[in-house]
Amino acid sequence: MPVKTLPKSVSVLIPLALPAPYDYEVPDGLIAEPGSYVIVPLGAQQILGVVWGEGTGEVDPKRLKPILEVLDVPPMPEVLRRFVDWLAAYTLNPRGSVLRLAIRAPGALEPQRMRTAYRLVDKRPARMTPARQRVVDTAMDQFARTTRELAEEAGVSDGVVRGLVDAGALVPVDLPTEAPFPTPDVAAVSKSLSPEQQAAATTLRERVDANRFAAILLDGVTGSGKTEVYFEAVAEALAQGRQVLILLPEIALTSQFLERFQGRFHCRPAEWHSELSSRERTRVWRGVAEGRARVVVGARSALFLPFPELGLIVVDEEHEAAFKQEEGVTYHARDMAVVRASLGQFPIILSSATPSLESAVNAEQGRYERIVLPERHGVAELPSITAIDMRTEPPERGRWLAPRLVEEIANALAAGEQAMLFLNRRGYAPLTLCRTCGHRIECPQCSSWLVEHRFRRELVCHHCGYSAPVPKACPSCGAEDSLIACGPGVERIAEEVAERFPEARLAVLSSDNLRGPQSHEEMFRAIEAREVDIIVGTQIVAKGHHFPWLTVVGVVDADLGLENGDLRAAERTFQLLQQVAGRAGRAERPGRVFLQTYMPEHAVMRALVAGKRDAFLKREAEARERVGLPPFGRLVGIVVSSENAAFAQKFARDMARHAPQAEEVSVLGPAPAPLALLRGRTRLRFLVKATRNVNIQAYMQAWLGEMKVPAAIRVSVDIDPYSFL
Ligand SMILES: [Zn+2]
Ligand SMILES: [Zn+2]
Repeated sequence: MPVKTLPKSVSVLIPLALPAPYDYEVPDGLIAEPGSYVIVPLGAQQILGVVWGEGTGEVDPKRLKPILEVLDVPPMPEVLRRFVDWLAAYTLNPRGSVLRLAIRAPGALEPQRMRTAYRLVDKRPARMTPARQRVVDTAMDQFARTTRELAEEAGVSDGVVRGLVDAGALVPVDLPTEAPFPTPDVAAVSKSLSPEQQAAATTLRERVDANRFAAILLDGVTGSGKTEVYFEAVAEALAQGRQVLILLPEIALTSQFLERFQGRFHCRPAEWHSELSSRERTRVWRGVAEGRARVVVGARSALFLPFPELGLIVVDEEHEAAFKQEEGVTYHARDMAVVRASLGQFPIILSSATPSLESAVNAEQGRYERIVLPERHGVAELPSITAIDMRTEPPERGRWLAPRLVEEIANALAAGEQAMLFLNRRGYAPLTLCRTCGHRIECPQCSSWLVEHRFRRELVCHHCGYSAPVPKACPSCGAEDSLIACGPGVERIAEEVAERFPEARLAVLSSDNLRGPQSHEEMFRAIEAREVDIIVGTQIVAKGHHFPWLTVVGVVDADLGLENGDLRAAERTFQLLQQVAGRAGRAERPGRVFLQTYMPEHAVMRALVAGKRDAFLKREAEARERVGLPPFGRLVGIVVSSENAAFAQKFARDMARHAPQAEEVSVLGPAPAPLALLRGRTRLRFLVKATRNVNIQAYMQAWLGEMKVPAAIRVSVDIDPYSFL
């Protein structure tokens, strides 16, 4: 009896919201190995997928559909496939949705376009002219050039070059159209390091050499030289033939970083972020996959690039909330970077001047190694921080700056120095109120006030982007010219500064008037060149920029971040204000920082004024440990939303009834979310709290498995939430 061979089958994961891969047949003549990018039929469509492993055998072999095509790109590395699986399981997302994050460079899987260039061979035409001779002389170096390039360099017409091609003296070669990636110069000598920096760099180099997982918290005040120190680890990894990923929280603000990189390695790294053109994305994705791009500096999504030889990750400003992806597949890029390093068995460096409580506790408990860089490199001293009690030193009526702060700014300007005012609130005023009837203008789609933007002459919702012109009459009572702006935003502070210091050159830095990296670069250059006297800005100014002439920093409303009261409010306020303070006095001029506050006795203000960061973190950690909050316990945020309010409420109550009973797990809610209405959807929140030893994913799966979610309802689950709105 003839042996009937079964068709060879593989499982293919498709980048759609599907939990598992599907089986497909591998037709004769095709080679589909694990990780191969393939085109497969799905219903009536043809779709891209990735071979995830052997076929599961769950589909009748006779009914298997065949793989249509195997794409000519290096297979997705096994470690990246395991990372996709791990992240999907941890965040409770379908594996296909996570896979989509790893193939977000549409053109990268298509064959690369080539251009034709020409190289000189050992054959000369029968008829040589002086023009032809110039082309031959130019091409003598054997570099391949296009017709145009050759003609230009030799100073002849294109026709002369074509004549030599016809005569066989120049032969065509295919060159990629994409620009190549320069090789970082690892042999270059770094700036001279202090003994402490040298010691830290040596330790980091040793961790890289050891070729196994290690998490290191690089902890040093602003200006202590953390970047120069971890560049030594980068150099070491590159010298070992490994690729390196450096994650930054705000990719639009990297110009200074790129300059420093260039200074150390004599080339620019590859960049990966949302502002890249799709063509550039394609180039970088392919460069990484083929191992040509050795160093990538990127935003959180760079974690999903197909590095075949990744050997080091650096997470700079590791405490930044921007590492948390809040839309779609929610994940914390810092935490997932640690997982990626652990799967790949190589070290990860978390760098910060104000480490997150999570990382500080991990270092405290020995899970992370901590390297402390104590002093400012080549800089005199840290700025002094003073609280201005707004209850005893209030500003004049209708003003926002306390007299003492105004005086300090005037002194700085008189000395030819710069001053900066920080307020983490965009626009002119956070609330517009009717003087006649008390009506507050709200977003029609969200439960939030509209923020006046005076430059744009609009009221804007900062949650959904809704905007409308400022009305002449009150929309509620119809009274004319009755609307008043309440509270300050940066635009209003800028207005006060312009009135008080009419001679001073003023720069306003906010995401509303700075769009794209170029405008940032230009603004920061102007500040460094002392073309600006006073800077008024939102958190854009808090990030690591050197302003050597800046000596006075005023925080207009130091209490602002404490208002929303979530578990990290104090920690984040401390980090943000500490970073803002770090902008002042970076050269030989000592900086002075003033915090305007109504709560000078608050632990955050006291710790900032006294410079007691570690004591503050320790107290915060103790407070969280007492109530079992992260990092000592686990949290899951759940938002139930619907356009139909009654429907959302009913479903949430139903969900509450189905919550499984479990030891050491408590379910809080449902309660209306602080943002109870967002983009027209009513939102209710649950908060699941558990001890660290609970498998919270299993608990959630059991719970959600009980629920049939109707189409009109959306349930979003956020493991380790950072936003509680
Ligand atoms: Zn009114
Ligand atoms: Zn809105």
